[in-house]
Amino acid sequence: MPELPEVETVVRTLGPRIVGRRIVEVRALSRRVVPRPIGRAAGGTVQAVRRLGKHILVELDRGILDIHLGMTGAVLVNATPGPYTRAWFRLDSGTLIYNDPRMFGRIRFGKQAPAGLGPDPLEVGAGEFARLLGGRRARLKPLLLNQRFLRGVGNIYADEALFGAGIHPRALACRLSPARAGRLHAALVEVLEDSIARGGTSISDYVDAEGRAGYFQQRLRVYGRGGLPCLHCGTSIRRVVLAGRGTHYCPRCQRV
Ligand SMILES: [Zn+2]
Repeated sequence: MPELPEVETVVRTLGPRIVGRRIVEVRALSRRVVPRPIGRAAGGTVQAVRRLGKHILVELDRGILDIHLGMTGAVLVNATPGPYTRAWFRLDSGTLIYNDPRMFGRIRFGKQAPAGLGPDPLEVGAGEFARLLGGRRARLKPLLLNQRFLRGVGNIYADEALFGAGIHPRALACRLSPARAGRLHAALVEVLEDSIARGGTSISDYVDAEGRAGYFQQRLRVYGRGGLPCLHCGTSIRRVVLAGRGTHYCPRCQRV
């Protein structure tokens, strides 16, 4: 599922290709992915492409196209539409298509960017991050996934950051010492930046706007490694379901 690094990679590859282009025609091919009409985007010129959490915002002179990739969404420039194409944009030069086999993605058009999201982990400072954690009596793993608390982090990077910081996913946020909160912030920033540098993690269908896969999956230390030896201590990585999500951790290296 695309998270902050994958969405950032899409934004970085998409922006240079479509900024300045005008949308000439819009076709929505799925009610599920495009719940409300987006035809008003036609006629708009792309001013900027930016990331807000896991959302791709295509800013037009007449509003904002908000694209959320869900689990298997992909935005591709000048690709050929196929059976999984759910939206299609003809530009004054070229095309933009949105493919999504599982259709958990959403495309919306409106005047405003989505509201109610927490701060971006790459923008919030360590002190502020520790202060936010201190106010929450919640287990860390589900808290990190809560987009209203922090925007952009999902299952992969929450597990990787907690491992990097040596903190158990069930640990209570408000009980973390300032030093451990600082380590978690540093681990989160490190894993996100490292993944962006490698074009993100390609586990299911994720590709960037040029159709290229990322290769951070080679660097994953706990995610998807249940039953395999911890790369640090050799103990079997455990996989449990926590708040409905598969969670991977080392029972020896990660402490509550
Ligand atoms: Zn270990």
